[in-house]
Amino acid sequence: MAEIKRDPNATPLLLTDYKPVSKLVTKVTTVTRPRFPVIDAHNHLSLPGFGDWDKRPVAELLDILDRADVRVYVDLDGGWGEDILETHLDHFKNAAPERFRVFGGVDWTKWEELGDRFPEWAADRLRKQAARGAEGLKIWKQFGLLVRDHQGNLVSVDDPRLDPIWATAGELKLPVLIHIADPVAFFDPVDNRNERWEELHDHVDWQFPSPPFPSFLTVVNGLARLVERHPQTTFIGAHVGCYAENLEWVGNLLDRCPNFYVDISERIGELGRQPYSARRFFLKYADRILFGTDRPPDDFIYPVYYRFLETDDEYFDYGIEEVPRQGRWRIYGIYLPDDVLEKVYYRNAERVILGKTE
Ligand SMILES: [Zn+2]
Repeated sequence: MAEIKRDPNATPLLLTDYKPVSKLVTKVTTVTRPRFPVIDAHNHLSLPGFGDWDKRPVAELLDILDRADVRVYVDLDGGWGEDILETHLDHFKNAAPERFRVFGGVDWTKWEELGDRFPEWAADRLRKQAARGAEGLKIWKQFGLLVRDHQGNLVSVDDPRLDPIWATAGELKLPVLIHIADPVAFFDPVDNRNERWEELHDHVDWQFPSPPFPSFLTVVNGLARLVERHPQTTFIGAHVGCYAENLEWVGNLLDRCPNFYVDISERIGELGRQPYSARRFFLKYADRILFGTDRPPDDFIYPVYYRFLETDDEYFDYGIEEVPRQGRWRIYGIYLPDDVLEKVYYRNAERVILGKTE
């Protein structure tokens, strides 16, 4: 074995300074236009960092969407009350009714004040939001991690007291786009073995060490029980069913629950580093997967998603940052066939979100 000869005077390199450039010479495909029109089923318009679109001309946004052939944009930022919903409906929906769908939400903070009456109140609020124009319900990730009832107890995702909310969504035919938990590594200690160390270092509020937080599996298994208990309600599990690291787990839930769908937003970094499993997953569950980005709409991010779905390009960046935001790896395209692309890009969302019947 060759002896290791290190330069004794060499200065150690900090991880933050390490930006290796790949020397692979492989195919690079630029996909500015997707093979089929697209519905972005998971996105935002007033989250901080998403471009403050509620204060800018809608025409500017539509130009970006047109260039990427995004025909419908699902805006999950309708909020809990009537006020924010109203703003979004006025600003976006009225400007281009066919191009936007606005989802409402649940105001968990009211639980403390309303006590046992909270679930019925929230269900009623959902009815009012739907009457005003909300076309779905967005559940944010504090549910299962931070939301507490009026006695201060952490509420589990499948808490039966909340059944009126899910039943009402089903009755109103409002899809529930639900994001619970977070990447598995966010629940692990933030140490030198954590694959999301840099991201967690930059976002202290994304760390959910267990304890004191419930374990990752406690939270996602709660989601599975919730979806199973409400077969009349359509659930879209955000970010590949909230468990992109384990496609077998997600596939099992899809097998058990025909009312369950997933979006791929913010997870091509996960899917693209397991390209064989991901491709099999897309082929098998082609009818259950929705396109979404969960990224500020611009001319850069859509082509990255299209490249991942359409090409067999290898080892490329899944984001536009110099250091990959979600972890130091690169991804591989999964070259989906046209019939699968068509379903994932828009046909599934047409059925599940736009309510189109064939
Ligand atoms: Zn989101």
